[in-house]
Amino acid sequence: MAGPRPVVLSGPSGAGKSTLLKKLFQEHGSVFGFSVSHTTRNPRPGEEDGKDYYFVTREMMQRDIAAGDFIEHAEFSGNLYGTRSLLGSTGLLPFPAPSKEAVRAVQAMNRICVLDVDLQGVRSIKKTDLHPIYISVQPPSMDVLEQRLRQRNTETEESLAKRLAAAQADMESSKEPGLFDLVIVNDNLDEAYVTLKQALSEEIKKAEGTEHA
Ligand code: ADP
Ligand code: 5GP
Repeated sequence: MAGPRPVVLSGPSGAGKSTLLKKLFQEHGSVFGFSVSHTTRNPRPGEEDGKDYYFVTREMMQRDIAAGDFIEHAEFSGNLYGTRSLLGSTGLLPFPAPSKEAVRAVQAMNRICVLDVDLQGVRSIKKTDLHPIYISVQPPSMDVLEQRLRQRNTETEESLAKRLAAAQADMESSKEPGLFDLVIVNDNLDEAYVTLKQALSEEIKKAEGTEHA
């Protein structure tokens, strides 16, 4: 398939994926398309429906998963998350066009499609033929991760504990040979951002080169 390769960004909750993506979209917004996921969790203050996530009920999501509308889905920290396969579910493309994959549609527009998914999502996407670049963002340590999650002020003690338990497993799995093309340790934000940009530079060049063509 022509067009830039999609990018899968994964790593523990609180590692800094959204922060890095925000910087990337601010600098290179026109060459990226974010795959807006569906989730059953509640929106955080400042999150917008259709931009950060499509916030849906478990009933709706289960029905659509059963109908085969998701490329992948996972249960994470007591909520469902998933990437829909229909065009209408991509923030970029508000019109519905069943039977075409959203990720491919973004690629066909010469944009780099970014998917922010957990480890289960990574393993599911590995079974598709999307051929993305797999990047894991890791915190420098569990202690720093806990600090960041607490400072973000978005979790209850219960959800924090669930996220930290998942993070432990995630940090171990990120060492699995061949699972990720690159593991970025997000200690210093600016350094992590430069590393991310370098990893995507070829795809960014490809997309920028064709942007005005
Ligand atoms: P994720 O999207 O991976 O769950 P976030 O991007 O929300 O993580 O980051 C979690 C918290 O850590 C946020 O409050 C963010 O501002 C902060 N953060 C991210 N990267 C760094 C960094 N390198 N140094 C210090 N704080 C950071
Ligand atoms: P959060 O609730 O912090 O936004 O996200 C929790 C976790 O769910 C993160 O690890 C994030 O990468 C993951 N996630 C978000 N969207 C999806 C998705 O569509 N599929 C999968 N598998 N995981 C997702």
